[in-house]
Amino acid sequence: MLGPVLLAASRSDRMRRIVAAAPVTRPVVDRFVAGDGLAPAMNSVRALTASGLTVTLDHLGEDVTDRATATATRDAYLRLLEALMLEGLGPKAEVSVKLSAFGQALPGSGHEIALENVRRVAELATEIGTTVTLDMEDHTTVDSTLAVLAELRERHPGTGAVLQSYLFRTEEDARALAAAGSRVRLVKGAYKEPASVAHQEKREVDRAYVRCLKILMAGDGYPMVGSHDPRLIAIAQELAARHDRKQGSYEYQMLFGIRTAEQRRLAATGERVRIYIPYGADWYGYFMRRLAERPANLTFFLRSFLPN
Ligand code: FAD
Repeated sequence: MLGPVLLAASRSDRMRRIVAAAPVTRPVVDRFVAGDGLAPAMNSVRALTASGLTVTLDHLGEDVTDRATATATRDAYLRLLEALMLEGLGPKAEVSVKLSAFGQALPGSGHEIALENVRRVAELATEIGTTVTLDMEDHTTVDSTLAVLAELRERHPGTGAVLQSYLFRTEEDARALAAAGSRVRLVKGAYKEPASVAHQEKREVDRAYVRCLKILMAGDGYPMVGSHDPRLIAIAQELAARHDRKQGSYEYQMLFGIRTAEQRRLAATGERVRIYIPYGADWYGYFMRRLAERPANLTFFLRSFLPN
């Protein structure tokens, strides 16, 4: 039951200092994160798009507690979009944002601050012909994030959102978002959530995923199947066929560095496959969630502490 412990550690400043200071951490982080800055991230964008994949970029950061850092996050995204524009990568590369990095949790007017910041990013994204997807964080943020989505879609209808199948509320949210023009990335969910709001058993989370996927595939929106799970990918293919969906009227999404052979295999069959590329110095929370998802990753990480 290491997963919940790692998820709790993902929000501990003390653990952050210990893990970040360990010299052996970096090579393991590099498996999941495309470098500290924009230059190495752009190298990954070029390599992946040249091989027929599409990408979404995440400038790492979350749980921002001051306005200046929220503004700096927005500016980092503006620089990223400018870099994509200069290389004409707009349509193949979009961006994923975490509203908590844009100020959502700031006391008082956090929701408005995050909206104002992300609006600037959405404007530039639209200008260069690409889109923004709002990542979903812990359950306390879902209402605010979906409200930001509704506001942004008025001017930027291509803005996407993420729904997490582990939350009890998600089937209803999926129904509300399965409409024309709506882009929804369905994932299982990566945060530590209480039993009052979320399924705790993997089997239940998987079943809920299938129920939500059925709603999205039957609807008129654009489903984005965010999973590495071979069973769910096979079910997504069956559902797409059942609803006469052509390739390109939905897509698969996977994380940078995870199941890379499967990413290429799916793309070679003509499917649209988008890779989520995280980059930046604030990798700790993202990295710990990846360790929590798979005990084998933790073993790999701990083994690197042993002398050769
Ligand atoms: P699992 O059952 O966890 O994994 C299936 C198989 O995939 C495993 O057997 C293994 O082979 C492989 N695998 C999965 N995870 C790993 C890993 N860390 N390391 C190595 N192999 C692995 N969650 C959110 O809460 N909010 C978000 O906004 C969000 N955005 C995401 C965006 C994308 C594109 C993806 C793919 C995931 C995102 N997630 C997000 C994470 C998601 O919620 C899951 O935690 C994660 O995808 C693992 O679930 P799975 O569906 O891959 O299935």
